[in-house]
Amino acid sequence: MQNPQASSSPSSRCRYHLALTALLLSAILSSFADAFTPSLHRQKSRLLLVNRALSSTTATSLAVLSNPLASSDLDQNYGGLFTFGVANNIVPTDGMLKLPHHERYKAISLQAVDKVAERHPALLPHLHDVKLAGMVFPFKASPYYVDELIDWDAEDVRQDPFYRLVFPTLDMLRKDHRSKLEAAYAEGNPKKLLGTVDEIRADLNPHPAGQKDLNSPKDNSLTGVQHKYSETVLVFPAAGQTCHAYCTYCFRWAQFIGDDELRFAQKEAHSLFRYLSQHEEVSDILMTGGDPMVMKTKSLAQYLEPFTNPNFLPHIKNIRIGTRSLTFWPQRFTTDDDADEVIELLRRVHEVGGRHVAIMAHLSHPRELSTSKVKATIRRLQKEAYTTIRSQSPVMRGINDQPEKWRTEVNMGIIPYYMFMARDTGAQHFFDVPMARAHKIYSDALRSCSGLIRTCRDEGWIGRPFFAKYHPDAVWFDDLVPLDGMELPWDENGLPREVPSTVY
Ligand code: SF4
Repeated sequence: MQNPQASSSPSSRCRYHLALTALLLSAILSSFADAFTPSLHRQKSRLLLVNRALSSTTATSLAVLSNPLASSDLDQNYGGLFTFGVANNIVPTDGMLKLPHHERYKAISLQAVDKVAERHPALLPHLHDVKLAGMVFPFKASPYYVDELIDWDAEDVRQDPFYRLVFPTLDMLRKDHRSKLEAAYAEGNPKKLLGTVDEIRADLNPHPAGQKDLNSPKDNSLTGVQHKYSETVLVFPAAGQTCHAYCTYCFRWAQFIGDDELRFAQKEAHSLFRYLSQHEEVSDILMTGGDPMVMKTKSLAQYLEPFTNPNFLPHIKNIRIGTRSLTFWPQRFTTDDDADEVIELLRRVHEVGGRHVAIMAHLSHPRELSTSKVKATIRRLQKEAYTTIRSQSPVMRGINDQPEKWRTEVNMGIIPYYMFMARDTGAQHFFDVPMARAHKIYSDALRSCSGLIRTCRDEGWIGRPFFAKYHPDAVWFDDLVPLDGMELPWDENGLPREVPSTVY
């Protein structure tokens, strides 16, 4: 487990090293780049022809291989400049927060990883790994995540949970896929390389969820609406089908490499509202993505503003927003140009519209919650927007296969909600945690928290399943009889039994 302070100290320590390494850096970079892409440089003219015939994402990946020093894309949702390397500089004064207004989101794409290596030389030995793996898996990071969360001073940065969370590695590929990709790369034939990438992607079960076919309303205007549970409708707003960064373990990874079959998105809100008006059994809307919080407030308001009117679809009581932005780009709620507007919108949906607004926050690790920027965001969402924050995340090996996170969350007023298992897609084998172990992590997490989130009184019995024979007239525990070979957690007098020493 990493030092909780590590989120702020690595950047500053790196700056000391940076002065010494800066003189050497350009020479190292150019020789490294030459070593990395000799054959592709030779085939530059052929590559341009190939690129025209390929999907933009794959072509982008190739451009990275052929031109490692290319500059990064601007994310279409944001503009302006970002000042790299800023430390956490939110200063609480008399209960008010003074927030700097100079940071603008700018996505770090695969083309920009060399720039990251300039700031964080620990990345240099892994550039080839990241770039080649990044041909198969989508890569995007936020400056905040890269500069303020990854512990670049770690002995092996690849073991840092936040590095693993956003930087792809060839270890995410099965051995046969990896050999195939490396062989295709060594051959220096771009067309073959791209074909190999496509073959590998197709082998990684890119469509595990079947969301287009399952529970979709039979209405052509509802291209991004899924009526999954009788009381809950999922909405995938078109402008929210990306994220501030991409998780290496994302089960929707194929959506981010331009897979048209996964373009499941709602282009406008009116047909959604029409559908909801015909379904009074629906009480909840879950806005999801991607990440709806990458949307500018103006776009988000198309979906949420009507709910500031208590008479509008009054059967809709709960609005849930699934988002990773609290820790991928906390500035979304504090210093972005329209941060105040989004807080105000959420507040009015709650206070004026009378709806319960829940932020379903994807949070992976307690260290994510340690920075002043994230703390300020959480405070604003709770105290100014009056939202409830619930946390959820998959349990991923090497990232968060530890129980500590929930305790931190409870102490911040966040309600732990779900733990998910790695799905059968992408790099499942690299991140998977066996169910028995996940169950222990879940039980230990529950046990580590106060009764505020526990629905089980006796902590010794958390995570120890037991069964009793069905007894329709039982009114108290000691009326029940255990199934053969099982023990109940209370004795014949209804008193807690001593906890068995081993279960796992
Ligand atoms: S935030 Fe969610 S949707 Fe976005 S990459 Fe991560 S897991 Fe996938």
